[in-house]
Amino acid sequence: MNRMILKFLSRSENEPFARNAVAAFALPLNPSLSELSDVKTAVSEAVTNCIVHGYRGTEGWITLECTVEGSFLHIMISDGGRGIEDVERALMPFYTTLPDEERTGMGFTIMQTFMTNFSVQSRVGEGTTVRMSMDFGARAEANAQ
Ligand code: ATP
Ligand code: MG
Repeated sequence: MNRMILKFLSRSENEPFARNAVAAFALPLNPSLSELSDVKTAVSEAVTNCIVHGYRGTEGWITLECTVEGSFLHIMISDGGRGIEDVERALMPFYTTLPDEERTGMGFTIMQTFMTNFSVQSRVGEGTTVRMSMDFGARAEANAQ
């Protein structure tokens, strides 16, 4: 089992840093380009949410933890920001609390669609944690059949 933990400030320049760090960490799993691109997009959406919703432009810490287990990459991304009042509602496609800032409300839907597993835990005033996994063995198995 391999593992890494990164902690970085909620600044927009750290979004590409985070998604590329995860991609680099995942390389030993021999991901396809499309799998890698899906993981990077999901990480980008989760980190952007911490920055724009969790901390709303203020500076705070974002923690990114990745674990490799067999053909799975498990990713945990958490902030200590505002939290989400109603997680079920936040997960609905096109639901956004920032419609004026050209948010489409599709970030969680993208994470759910692109990743093998996905879940969110949040407490108002305490923060939000997104957990998601990608099975890099799934496609290889499907191709072999
Ligand atoms: P888009 O991702 O398409 O730009 P969005 O960020 O509003 O728009 P989602 O990523 O699906 O859409 O998030 C839905 C809603 O959940 C957000 O509008 C926000 O209210 C809430 N939310 C998501 N992540 C967080 C977070 N880390 N902290 C606080 N609230 C969050
Ligand atoms: Mg979003």
